[in-house]
Amino acid sequence: MKAEIFSIGTEILLGEIVDTNSKHIAYELASMGIDVFYKTSIGDNEKRLLDAINIAYKRADIIISTGGLGPTDDDLTKETFAKYFNKKLITHKESLENLKSYYKEEYMPKSNLKQADMPEGSIVLVNENGTASGCIIEKDNKIAVILPGPPSECLPMFNKQVKPILQKYTNKVLLSKNLNLCGIGESNASEMIKDLMLSSTNPTIAPYAGNNEVRFRVTASGKTKEEANKILKPTVDKLYNIFDEYIYGEDEQTLQDVIVKKLIKNNMTICTAESCTGGLLASTIINVPSASKVFLNGVISYSNDSKIYELNVCEGDLQKYGAVSEKIAIQMAEGIREKCNSHIGISTTGIAGPTGGTDEKPVGLVYIAISIKGKETFCKKLMLTGDRQKIREKTVHICFSNLLKLI
Ligand code: ATP
Ligand code: MG
Repeated sequence: MKAEIFSIGTEILLGEIVDTNSKHIAYELASMGIDVFYKTSIGDNEKRLLDAINIAYKRADIIISTGGLGPTDDDLTKETFAKYFNKKLITHKESLENLKSYYKEEYMPKSNLKQADMPEGSIVLVNENGTASGCIIEKDNKIAVILPGPPSECLPMFNKQVKPILQKYTNKVLLSKNLNLCGIGESNASEMIKDLMLSSTNPTIAPYAGNNEVRFRVTASGKTKEEANKILKPTVDKLYNIFDEYIYGEDEQTLQDVIVKKLIKNNMTICTAESCTGGLLASTIINVPSASKVFLNGVISYSNDSKIYELNVCEGDLQKYGAVSEKIAIQMAEGIREKCNSHIGISTTGIAGPTGGTDEKPVGLVYIAISIKGKETFCKKLMLTGDRQKIREKTVHICFSNLLKLI
């Protein structure tokens, strides 16, 4: 079963809005085992829409379209599909009632009435969040699913009303699990499971290198969810065995989520002293909803003076070693931990660029330090590449992946 997604609207082609509908629909279709090989964006134009429909049905069984169901003349999606399928538009009673109840006592422009006209013989999808009903037309083994444009209307309609109907056309369920790794690069990780990846067809294993992290997505296909789960599990277990020390979480779990959870479990508190990351480290921790249970204080100590006064860094050492040095990173981490009486102090100091680098201390040189009560302070020298923002993001990520090992 192959589907093609249409996003209809001149606004999309002019770059005025981002087509997020097709992203969500594609994701859902993938999880249902329906293949999507093409997505098409088309302006509000009858001829071009008809052309696109003709092309799409040469390579797909279903078209799922969003947009162009409004009351104005340029909203012509339903009319054009009806023309293609040679179906008359007839007033749909429930849609008309929905439309009227939406306006209640207010005056309803006459032009809105066309939103209740549906292609004859179609399955009508009454809109619970707006005025435009959607519909499903089926003829000669071609299916068209026609949905409104606003995401708040289109996505609930797709999830609640369309998915159960489409599920009948497919006898597959796809189930995926993402394993999130840190402390290892994509190529090293892929190399370690090269043979397994090549030989696995169901489930498949696909690597993704995202924002500083490596992710393996394992996807199994089965007739039922239970069957897919059974197929998925042995491969997931194998990957856990191989990458045990690197896997920190699954699916949408982030490193900071896992760290905050672990700190809460271990009853530990944390403080940050940041130079080159400028608050990014603290704000990433604070983005986790229960961070208040573990995060005590964060200092952005950008200048030398601030390092001396806020963190008790030794002035002589600053002059001798420079702010970007192992010595200072350690003193910053220990300084913030002692000042705030937390279990953990974590610091960053580096040259994020694009200027400020020297031969001895080039752009991308960063030191991170983690001081934990009762333990020797950990310090790591990093040589990072990328622009200013990337260097700061990578620094935060590396702080987290090292912290996770230490707590
Ligand atoms: P309306 O009754 O609001 O006119 P409609 O079904 O005719 O709805 P459009 O006119 O195509 O839909 O789009 C209405 C609004 O919905 C757009 O201005 C935009 O904000 C949003 N929208 C439309 N298509 C998409 C899309 N593919 N992705 C995200 N948002 C979209
Ligand atoms: Mg419209």
